[in-house]
Amino acid sequence: MDAMSQPAQPSVFTRIVAREIPADIVFENERIIAFKDIQPQAAVHLLVVPKTEQYSNVTQLAAADPALLAEVVAIAKQLAERYCDGEYRLVFNEGASVGQTVFHVHAHVLGGGLAEGSLGQ
Ligand code: AMP
Repeated sequence: MDAMSQPAQPSVFTRIVAREIPADIVFENERIIAFKDIQPQAAVHLLVVPKTEQYSNVTQLAAADPALLAEVVAIAKQLAERYCDGEYRLVFNEGASVGQTVFHVHAHVLGGGLAEGSLGQ
């Protein structure tokens, strides 16, 4: 088998779903998992992740499975209610130039005292 026909490696988030690497999991159902970000950028920093890795980014997810995207948003809100009084910032990075490092779609839930006007800094 040449290099071009090697199967892609599972993403780090797929490996968390499979319990191959540890994570501080805060929510899980059949289609979605959520856990604490390993390098938090805010007092509350969670990742809400569809278990499927077939979508690299939110644009692909929205086009192919809008109900799953809506579920990601609903779970983000539930977690924000639990961890930061229901107020939060929801971030989807799309593209390496804006900092996307894991190409398995995920939402960042950020909260707990973010500075007003800090978006993008
Ligand atoms: P992004 O830059 O939008 O692709 O976000 C990827 C996020 O995944 C970063 O905030 C990382 O800190 C986080 N991350 C990477 N590996 C892990 C891991 N093993 N457990 C929890 N979070 C992780």
